[in-house]
Amino acid sequence: MPTRPQVYRPEATLLDLGDGFFDPVAPADFPETRLRFRNDRAAAQIGVDTLTDDEWTRHFGRFAPLPDTLPQPLALRYHGHQFRNYNPDLGDGRGFTFAQMRDESGRLMDLGTKGSGQTPWSRAGDGRLTLKGGVREILATEMLEALNVPSSRTLSLIETGEHLHRGDEPSPTRSAVLVRLNHSHVRIGSFQRLAYERDEAGLRKLVGYTLRNLYDEDGDDPVRLLDLVVGRTARLAARYMAAGFVHGVLNSDNINVTGESFDYGPWRFAPTWDPAFTAAYFDHQGLYAFGRQPEAIHWDVMQLAVALRQIVESEPLVAALDQFGPRYQPEVTQAILWRLGVRSRDPDTDRDLVQATERALRTSGVGIDRFFFDAFGGELPDTYADPWTEVRTALASYEPRKDRSHAYWSGEPCSMLIDEVEAIWSPIADDDDWTPLHAKVAAIRNMGDALAE
Ligand code: AMP
Ligand code: MG
Repeated sequence: MPTRPQVYRPEATLLDLGDGFFDPVAPADFPETRLRFRNDRAAAQIGVDTLTDDEWTRHFGRFAPLPDTLPQPLALRYHGHQFRNYNPDLGDGRGFTFAQMRDESGRLMDLGTKGSGQTPWSRAGDGRLTLKGGVREILATEMLEALNVPSSRTLSLIETGEHLHRGDEPSPTRSAVLVRLNHSHVRIGSFQRLAYERDEAGLRKLVGYTLRNLYDEDGDDPVRLLDLVVGRTARLAARYMAAGFVHGVLNSDNINVTGESFDYGPWRFAPTWDPAFTAAYFDHQGLYAFGRQPEAIHWDVMQLAVALRQIVESEPLVAALDQFGPRYQPEVTQAILWRLGVRSRDPDTDRDLVQATERALRTSGVGIDRFFFDAFGGELPDTYADPWTEVRTALASYEPRKDRSHAYWSGEPCSMLIDEVEAIWSPIADDDDWTPLHAKVAAIRNMGDALAE
C-alpha cells in the first residue's frame, strides 16, 4: 500500500507504434449508465480514486477522455490461434484501449474495455458484454489478485440498459461495460498479425516498444524478448496451477506478453486437483483443461517464436523456448509453497514436498481450497490420514512464512466454485440485490490480506 497518494501520471505511449497497430473507434451510446462496481483500491494505484461517481461514470461509461492520455479510444489489431486454428479475423471486437498511465510502481498500465461497442473487428458480434459476464470477471480478478496470480484487475463495471441475446445465458439478458486495468494489451497475437502480414519493420518496432515500455530494457533483440516472455508466462502458468484456476480460453490472442492474465470468459476454479477438469463447455477435447495449462501456454509462446523467426534466426529462439519447462518447475514449487504458507528450504526438499502434495491432492480428492487453508503455516491436522502422511511429515520440517493470527484463519476457506458464482448472480438477476457480490469481494480481499507477505 502506498504511504502517500499516487498521483495520476498519464501516458500516450501506444501512439508511438503508429496507426498501423490500431483503429480509432467511438464508444457505443448506451441508453443508461448505472455504476455497479468501482474498484477504489485499484484506482488508488493509478491516481483516479478521487473521481466523483459522476466523473467516474463519464469516463468509464461514456468514455470522455482522461486528461493528457489517448485523445480517442483505439481498437487494437491482432490475430491469433483459437483452439490451435489460426484466425486472421480477430482484433478488439468489443473493446478498446482508451487510456495509459503509470501505476504506483512505475509500470505502464492500460485501461481497456469490454463491451464498449462495435469496432471494425466485431464481425457478426454486437460489441457488447453481458452484466453476468462482467460480474464473473470481477469475481475472477479479485480471486486471482488475492491468490497472487499476475492478472488484470477489474476497475469498473457499469450497467448499460440494453437487452442482449446470448446462447449461454437466459436471454434477453442485461448489458454492461467493464474497464480493466492491465499491464499492456500487447498479445502474442499482436506479433502473429505482423508476421502474417510480413511486416518486418512492424515486428521490429513492436519488439522495441515491448522491451522499452513493458520490460524497461533497451534494444530490440527479439531473442531477449522471447526469453523474458518465457519467464513471465512460465510464472503465470505456475500460479494458475497453485490457485486451482482454469482460464478456459488460452488462445494466443488472450496471452499478454507481460505474462499478466486477462480476458475472463468461461473460467472456473477447480474444486479438486483433477488435471482433466475443463472450464469451457465448448472445449470438447479438454485442450485447456486444468492440468494442460502449462503446455497450452508454452504452445502459445511457441507461436510468438514462430512470428519472431521472421526477423531473427531460429536457433536462439528455440533455445529460449526450451527454457519454459526448466523455468516452470521452480515457479510452481514457489507458488505452492506460498499457498502452503511456508518458507522455501532447498530445491530438492521443496520439490519433493510439492510433488507429494500434488499426488495427495489428486488421489484424495480433497478440496483444493480446504487443503491449503488447513495446511497454511505447515501444521497439517491429524484428520488428514492416508494418503497425507508423507506430506504431513515433510511439512513439519518447514517454517511458516506467516502465522495464523489473521481473523481469516478462524473462519472457513474462501473459494469461488461455480455454484457460488451462480448464487451471487441470482439475487442480482432476480432482485437487483448486489449485497452478496459486495460481501464476497470483501471476503476475498480479507483472504488476500491473510495470505499477503
Ligand atoms: P475472446 O474469446 O473473448 O477472446 O474473443 C475472441 C474475439 O471475438 C475477439 O476478437 C473479440 O473482440 C471478439 N468478440 C467476442 N465477443 C464479441 C462480441 N459480443 N461482439 C464483437 N466481438 C466479439
Ligand atoms: Mg480475447
